[in-house]
Amino acid sequence: MHLNPYGEYAVLLAASLANDWPADRSGIEKRAREFGMTMDFPESPDDLLGTRRVIEDWLRVVDASDPHDRARLLNAHMAAATAYPRLTDHHDEGWHLHYRDEDQSLPHVLRAVISVGTALHLTTRGMHRLRRCAAGATPGDPCSAVVVDVTRNGRQRYCSVRCANRAAVRRHRARADPSD
Ligand SMILES: [Zn+2]
Ligand SMILES: [Zn+2]
Repeated sequence: MHLNPYGEYAVLLAASLANDWPADRSGIEKRAREFGMTMDFPESPDDLLGTRRVIEDWLRVVDASDPHDRARLLNAHMAAATAYPRLTDHHDEGWHLHYRDEDQSLPHVLRAVISVGTALHLTTRGMHRLRRCAAGATPGDPCSAVVVDVTRNGRQRYCSVRCANRAAVRRHRARADPSD
């Protein structure tokens, strides 16, 4: 697994799992591969539930709006899952860093990769660049998707064009008829 300097695809993998939870263990592994992981993991019957717990813990980081709370949660996750960094060259990926011990379960590896990736993303790009879609802040709106902001200007608020348009229509209606 490559963690690029911005931790980008580990944090995008976490958002993908949170926004579109796979039906079974092989779905998790497939998703991890789509985002660039090449490892094979020993199979355990606890993998699906264990990974769900990793994502639930990560969502608490997403929902912590205060940077100090975010840092405290992430520090706890890293303390639980990571090890000293070490250089590795498995599967012809080229030399890269792992922040964990070898031969660990799928949930453990994901906890390490996601917590370090999120910490790198937030510290290099900005502590505010992780949130829920702003469309969902309106009462009754169904969107609760996670937005990882990797844009140049750092102002992404919506998970999709669809959500941005829905919010724009609501703003327009509110202006057109202030009594409504
Ligand atoms: Zn690796
Ligand atoms: Zn949305």
